[in-house]
Amino acid sequence: MLDRHCRFCGTRLEHDFVDLGATPLANSYVTREQIAQDLDKAYPLRARVCSSCYLVQVDAPVAPESIFSDYAYFSSYSQSWVEHARTYAAAMIARFGLGANSLVVEVASNDGYLLQHFVAAGVPALGVEPAANVAETARAKGVPTEVAFFGAETARKLFARGIAADLTAANNVLAHVPDIGDFIRGFSVILKPQGVSTFEFPHVLNLIRELQFDTIYHEHFSYLSLVAVEAVLKKSGLRAFDVEELPTHGGSLRLFVCHAAAGHAETDRLRAIRVKEHEFRLDSLAGYEGFAEKVAAVKQGFLDFLVRAKAEGRTVAAYGAAAKGNTFLNVCGVTARDIACVFDRSSAKQGLYLPGSHIPILPPDAIGERKPDYLVILPWNLRDEIMREMAEIRSWGGRFVTAVPAVQVF
Ligand SMILES: [Zn+2]
Repeated sequence: MLDRHCRFCGTRLEHDFVDLGATPLANSYVTREQIAQDLDKAYPLRARVCSSCYLVQVDAPVAPESIFSDYAYFSSYSQSWVEHARTYAAAMIARFGLGANSLVVEVASNDGYLLQHFVAAGVPALGVEPAANVAETARAKGVPTEVAFFGAETARKLFARGIAADLTAANNVLAHVPDIGDFIRGFSVILKPQGVSTFEFPHVLNLIRELQFDTIYHEHFSYLSLVAVEAVLKKSGLRAFDVEELPTHGGSLRLFVCHAAAGHAETDRLRAIRVKEHEFRLDSLAGYEGFAEKVAAVKQGFLDFLVRAKAEGRTVAAYGAAAKGNTFLNVCGVTARDIACVFDRSSAKQGLYLPGSHIPILPPDAIGERKPDYLVILPWNLRDEIMREMAEIRSWGGRFVTAVPAVQVF
């Protein structure tokens, strides 16, 4: 067995958080031909916690380029996420007095879903996005976008071209970078002396409390606490000064960061999260123990539900061909025999099959022909939005189901 070392601090990893077995890459949707040729590879999915910096992490089974360069995810497909972006832009412009002489840089800027709001308000913006096809969509919206993986080297190149940011945004990307230390160093390079960097990431505290094991997948390298992120920031001469708790992705933190010597005063909100993490013992190994046993109980609860549904002659379909659904279905060992199909709005995914479970992906308007008795909402974080969107299932007596942290029927 290979020794594994912490992707941030290099300490040998000796403590399992949870071992989810061998599963395919969660965003690698497959064709019928690929299934027939058995090209749907599985890799061990095992999360460990570092005993030194408390970064929870999974191994990268393949180079990140092969994961992200043809990414089928477009942020603008989720209405609630677009609204989240609008609110963020307005709040940042007001709080930090951004205007025509400012620059906002977003890393992993996707299709410009966020920066378009700064551009519309007359605040210059620059996106940095590794997927060329996605960056092209952003440019078409009037959002200048660099095609690059962000890190210290990319930041130095941008800085050499005179690019320095008053505000940087990195939403749901910190957890996805293989070298978190190098990534954070990039912000220390590109940020103006009094500039502010915000980072949004799912809070591992909620993952633990709400048993969100389905947010663990290979492309999601790190599961972040404030204690771990503050260690990473410190190494690059940065510090957190404020934080907001957000409901997105099952409970996220939006961390406000500046240079160590900058004038931003530390808030009580930040100190309160530090205290809360200490109370949940996230600054010791004890906070991460016992998770695997709880995951096994969630899995059993869902399998019991499927057995009951089958015994009652009821059909089960799912909604949302997203990463967390794939982890969930593969950990549960569910296949197309258990769940006939999954509906998803993304036309890029329709006609393909979920990795591992090989459940076919259909457009949402096909649901009227299928008329499932149960619709399992895999992205439970978008539950309310999906229940509104798919309300027609009520017309044939269909019911919505979520499975994490326990089976619930609506
Ligand atoms: Zn570490």
